[in-house]
Amino acid sequence: MKIAVLRERATGESRVSATPETVKKFIALGASVVVESGAGTGASIGDDDYRAAGAEIVAADAAKDADIVLGVQGAEADLLAGVKPGAWVVAGLDPFVRRDRVDAYASAGLEALAMEFMPRITRAQSMDILSSQSNLAGYKAVLTAANIYGRAFPMMMTAAGTVSAAKAFIMGVGVAGLQAIATARRLGAQVSATDVRSATKEQIQSLGAKPIFVESVAGIEGEGAGGYATEMSEEYQKAQAELVSSHIAKQDIVITTALIPGRAAPRLITDAQIATMKPGSVIFDLAVSQGGNVEGSVADQVVEKHGVKIVGYSNTATHLAADASALFARNLYNFLSAFWDKEAGKPVLDEEIGNAIRLTQGGRVVNERLLG
Ligand code: NAD
Repeated sequence: MKIAVLRERATGESRVSATPETVKKFIALGASVVVESGAGTGASIGDDDYRAAGAEIVAADAAKDADIVLGVQGAEADLLAGVKPGAWVVAGLDPFVRRDRVDAYASAGLEALAMEFMPRITRAQSMDILSSQSNLAGYKAVLTAANIYGRAFPMMMTAAGTVSAAKAFIMGVGVAGLQAIATARRLGAQVSATDVRSATKEQIQSLGAKPIFVESVAGIEGEGAGGYATEMSEEYQKAQAELVSSHIAKQDIVITTALIPGRAAPRLITDAQIATMKPGSVIFDLAVSQGGNVEGSVADQVVEKHGVKIVGYSNTATHLAADASALFARNLYNFLSAFWDKEAGKPVLDEEIGNAIRLTQGGRVVNERLLG
């Protein structure tokens, strides 16, 4: 059983899908691990670190004869020539956006497993790349906004006078939003937050922030399907827009994190609303790569509209590459080791998780979310 770890090719991607820690653990399971030279550079992991953990380092053709190829964003199919027939490609494969690549995996006879399709069930929590990466993204979004903001976050009483606390508003209170609330609070901001799922109200309060919720139209009770939000009714969207308009003008920092799986991100802030904010305020749009929550946000740029700076990283977790890689690599190890069949000497998936994450098999696209 040979596991290959490739260097990520995507622009701006600094993460790596295995660390010396997980390499050691895969070897302890009985696998051999090949790492492409330089794969860990962006995450401050050298070839020698992998070698010391027991991996073979190769300059080229790392996927040759591999049974499993690990990735963060996953390799293009042409890089995988020479793998064993039916080899697994395990990564965050962005299947809705990169459908062309899913088809290429199918044509190449590969079994592609999309880690972001991992079901949100208790036993799969430790395998959830969306959670591990979103948590870091929520933290980094607040730090980045704080860096760009020309004022301080905490209230400071000094001999020269008082500096007032920044007001931060977090829109979307999933994994990233919760971490954004906690981080903004730690920095001393006055924090408020909103979501469409009523279950988040208590979570916001428990972090010491103020919930701002649409009360006139019903939101999503409880956690929604698999914990995710769905598209809201027009009536709800109108009530939400009014609520945001009255609140946002008083905010200094806004972090938006709202996503709906498989669909464009909901538009939460319009240009007209930005115009009501104070010059010097900062908005960080964590949904920029899915179309953006904020009108006018541009991936990987800081744009200024009405004196307000709007920031969007297309890949926020990569800006914390070492920690993001460590957690991502553990997610992959936790997944493969949970299904490791000692007798077969390889992982064997069960139906629940296999059907959820398997995109291609036997030359065909098999995932119902892509077929439906
Ligand atoms: P996400 O990244 O899909 O979306 C971010 C947040 O945006 C969500 O809270 C969502 O409700 C909110 N949102 C969507 N549309 C919105 C709108 N129009 N206005 C305001 N907010 C909007 O969410 P996530 O971080 O993946 O978390 C979703 C839920 O799943 C959370 O309750 C989380 O705790 C849960 N979860 C469960 C597991 C598990 O059990 N294994 C793992 C991870 C997350």
